[in-house]
Amino acid sequence: MIYIKSDDELELMRKAGRIAALAREAAAECIKPGVTTRSIDSTVKRVIQSYGATPSFLGYAGFPASACISVNDELIHGIPSGRVLQEGDVVKIDVGAKYKGFHGDCAGTYGVGTISPEAQKLIDVTKQSFFEGMKAAVIGNRIGDISAAVQNYVESFGYGVIRDYVGHGIGKALHESPEVPNYASKIRGPRLEKGMTIAVEPMVAIGSYQIKVLSNDWTVVTCDGSLTAHYENTIAILDDGPVILTDPR
Ligand code: MG
Repeated sequence: MIYIKSDDELELMRKAGRIAALAREAAAECIKPGVTTRSIDSTVKRVIQSYGATPSFLGYAGFPASACISVNDELIHGIPSGRVLQEGDVVKIDVGAKYKGFHGDCAGTYGVGTISPEAQKLIDVTKQSFFEGMKAAVIGNRIGDISAAVQNYVESFGYGVIRDYVGHGIGKALHESPEVPNYASKIRGPRLEKGMTIAVEPMVAIGSYQIKVLSNDWTVVTCDGSLTAHYENTIAILDDGPVILTDPR
């Protein structure tokens, strides 16, 4: 069941989204060689709480932290730890905030110090693939049109689009219907309607899209060890086109 949001609910989601986006920005500013992922997580938690919100991920299915922080071949669901970031690392920060009953969810990928041109290109393509998908997020289209737009863009660079994890509806629950895959299939999905809110989140590997979960039951890594990137915003489908709710402004 897809929950269509009223204007008042969309306003609350805009506030939740802004808080999540501000936490993502604050985390990005912390990233430099010598910093631990745990210290970045502390910043995320502090920023979210400073706005009267709660971290959506903390305790979600038992997740032990406020942000998912995933490094290099780690794609998503990395657990913040004493790991020290090194020059050249590629870091994915995924943040959710719950405010007055509604969630915002966003992610970004950042280089530590100077990174390789290959890594920068992967980050740039992954981010742009979100915007390619968003262009298709218009009333009357289907979820599958977003999926196809993301996939076509990413694969034109020879990268792998992850299949096993997908974007999602979002609102009072962090994960609602519908699923928002980053690849096209025969199932084109529901039509987009005014008031739908979805998290569009391309997950991309330089190599194969095959992934596995580490023995901590959380961290998702590429099977071939290739570098990954992730970019996500929560968006609302409106009459005049899609709007990003995880906007820090
Ligand atoms: Mg998400």
